[in-house]
Amino acid sequence: MDVAEIRGDFPILNQEGKPFVYLDNGATTQKPQAVIDRLCRYYSLENSNIHRGSYPLSSRASRMYEEARETVRSWVDAEYGEEIVFTRGCTESVNLAALAVFETYVCPGDNVIVTELEHSSNYFPWKNQCGKKGAQFRVALAQADGSLRAEDVLEQMDCRTRLIAVTAMSNVTGFCPDVDLIIREAHKRGVLVLVDAAQAIVHRVISVRQMDCDFLCFSGHKIYGPMGIGIFYGKKTYLEEMAPYLYGGDMVVKGDRGEVSYKKSSGKYEAGTQNIAGALGLEAALIYLRSRGFEELLRYEAELGGYLRECLEAVKGVHVMGALSMPPLLSPRPDPPIAVFGADNLGAYDIGVLLANYGIAVRCGSHCAYPLMKRVGRESLCHVSLSFYNTKQEIEYLAERLERICGRGS
Ligand code: PLP
Repeated sequence: MDVAEIRGDFPILNQEGKPFVYLDNGATTQKPQAVIDRLCRYYSLENSNIHRGSYPLSSRASRMYEEARETVRSWVDAEYGEEIVFTRGCTESVNLAALAVFETYVCPGDNVIVTELEHSSNYFPWKNQCGKKGAQFRVALAQADGSLRAEDVLEQMDCRTRLIAVTAMSNVTGFCPDVDLIIREAHKRGVLVLVDAAQAIVHRVISVRQMDCDFLCFSGHKIYGPMGIGIFYGKKTYLEEMAPYLYGGDMVVKGDRGEVSYKKSSGKYEAGTQNIAGALGLEAALIYLRSRGFEELLRYEAELGGYLRECLEAVKGVHVMGALSMPPLLSPRPDPPIAVFGADNLGAYDIGVLLANYGIAVRCGSHCAYPLMKRVGRESLCHVSLSFYNTKQEIEYLAERLERICGRGS
């Protein structure tokens, strides 16, 4: 793989001046020119609302929007296009799911299970709905090293469990719970499973059919697409059964003060004017990844991830956290290109600021994952998340500067 050529696709990485080493890809990925061009083309030449006008520009926008849905369907290997709902992002997708699932399937006294690994976005929407509905909010505990055993999730289940919400990859440690086992066992007892794929989507080839999850959520901006666009996947039968999330234009088939009928599956959940440019930008990102050979990019990232941990572990005074693991279905097997660490003599925020002085961008803090941080006994940690546009030289530069900041060179 020619990394220099790939870097040429990302204008932000090719600016003159101070070094810019971007290692916070878990927060958001940089955008290739293809995505930027797609947004620009839409607003320059194609801007029109969808599903409304009878003039060619609007028909064309409607067609392109549906083609983008089809591209996403194929990316996650869903069976039907109507199973793909465009949202504003992963957070909105989980909120949509929580509201619709509670309105349709959850009664007072039922329970929902989340895990201590969850990002706030896949924790608080469920906690909030449980509180409102008089349902029990159950939390499967993580291990002290930040891992999660599928058995600890499954043993929370009983005959009143309606849903398990679990991440496919922790945004803190990169740990991947065995979602396949959780889904298999949950389904034996008629329990729904929602998978938060906000992090996994960009480091794995995901097939919702193979996984057999009932719902899956992610954000476009974490997979090289624009901000403000996300995906909520739901099995067709559930999307047809569940209550709408927002009410407004384009989701009603007909209605007045009496009877009202809504569109069936995805259309029911897309009320009002959508982020059409965002959907087209996300499509452009997926096409870009496909054209560059996604699996090859992942292999390179995995190699880089191994090198990252090796280099960080060699820095005196720095502690790299957690053994990572991959369930077999989420292949390729190597651990995600993520490392989380603390230091003996400095807090995470201090490290982040000092690295920023050298032009290195890493994430520091509690990572919107308070239960997990509490479990591993840390208030804040530094987090490095790589992309295929990162290089070994950048990792060496990080390690060398960390050595200066935390180790013997300080
Ligand atoms: N879930 C996980 C695991 C995440 O890492 C994030 C964001 O970092 C989210 C959900 C929320 O994503 P967004 O802020 O794009 O809605």
